[in-house]
Amino acid sequence: MFDLAVPRRVLFGPGRAGELAGLLPTLGRKVLLCTGANPSRHRHLLGGVDPVAVVTVPHEPTVDEVRVATREARAAGAEVVVAIGGGSVLDVGKAVAVLLGNGTDPLDHLEVVGRGVPVERAAVPYVAVPTTAGTGAEATANAVLSDPEHGIKASIRSPHLLATVALVDPLLTLTCPPAVTASSGLDALTQCLEPYVSPRANPASDAVAAEGLRRGARALRAAYENGDDREAREEMALCSLFGGIALANAKLGAVHGVAGVVGGMVDAPHGAVCAALLAPVVEANVRALRVREPGSPGLRRYARAAPLLTGREDATVEDAVTWLRETVAALDVPPLEAVGLRPAQYAEVAEKAARSNSMQGNPVRLTAEELVAVLSAAS
Ligand SMILES: [Zn+2]
Repeated sequence: MFDLAVPRRVLFGPGRAGELAGLLPTLGRKVLLCTGANPSRHRHLLGGVDPVAVVTVPHEPTVDEVRVATREARAAGAEVVVAIGGGSVLDVGKAVAVLLGNGTDPLDHLEVVGRGVPVERAAVPYVAVPTTAGTGAEATANAVLSDPEHGIKASIRSPHLLATVALVDPLLTLTCPPAVTASSGLDALTQCLEPYVSPRANPASDAVAAEGLRRGARALRAAYENGDDREAREEMALCSLFGGIALANAKLGAVHGVAGVVGGMVDAPHGAVCAALLAPVVEANVRALRVREPGSPGLRRYARAAPLLTGREDATVEDAVTWLRETVAALDVPPLEAVGLRPAQYAEVAEKAARSNSMQGNPVRLTAEELVAVLSAAS
């Protein structure tokens, strides 16, 4: 028995962003546009539609920024939200859409630092158009907001945050610079692997996670080394979409549990933090499972993931760890030390991460000492 939560419609394929303008009249007249720092970049995708308000999202969003954006959208009478950009932009779009539909404030629903009140009513129609291949935010049912006051990131989480339309056009990622391709691509891969080894996995999440792992592992280096490789970009867009579907249905693990906390303490891209943690977490999980839960399905799941990652039928979990380490190195991902995390902060990170929602899908409970060792190995 399982539930499968997915966007109402997923439109995938090269060139399909051209369908956006024709789609909008069926969803609402007054459009709120959420974009990255440069709103004119993808403006043409709206065709003749003139948005009633434009929200720019230059970095990972704060509670206050979402509150201000919602107020603006409400004042302008926005009926439909279109978000075109990376994960942060898509998260702002879905948060604003749900707050418009409910007449509420971000802190009403935010987990951990807010009141965590369940979202009761539907969002206004929301179209997600990703321009990076990484977060899978077009397919997830949560929006991550940072709360600078508490130095923490937390989510609004509800099936009502699922997009009305996820419009995924891999051609929009062709202009992604190599560093963004690397960090977002490794995030996508992590978001396929963590749900795949999660105790919350189900047959449907397994199917999409395995396919995302296989495609992403084959294409990531090619997309990084040659941004114009359309086939690799298409595979990475699928890896990202499938990672989003997988995590929305099977949860994430210790990479994201720790990365969420680190991201609230240092200013570094989410994907880069995940990438640095990836191999050390897999090693720590496998070691802990072998010692404490040798019969665990988690070990069998890691064993099944190894051929998907390495492309070799006979690959072991150790081969998979080596593959992950070599891939992260080939993609020039900086260690945690380089993004400003200090050893004096490890204990605090471990303590906060142990309580994080993302830890729920980890195949084994890691101790504070094990989490500190992971941080040290990733630095
Ligand atoms: Zn992620």
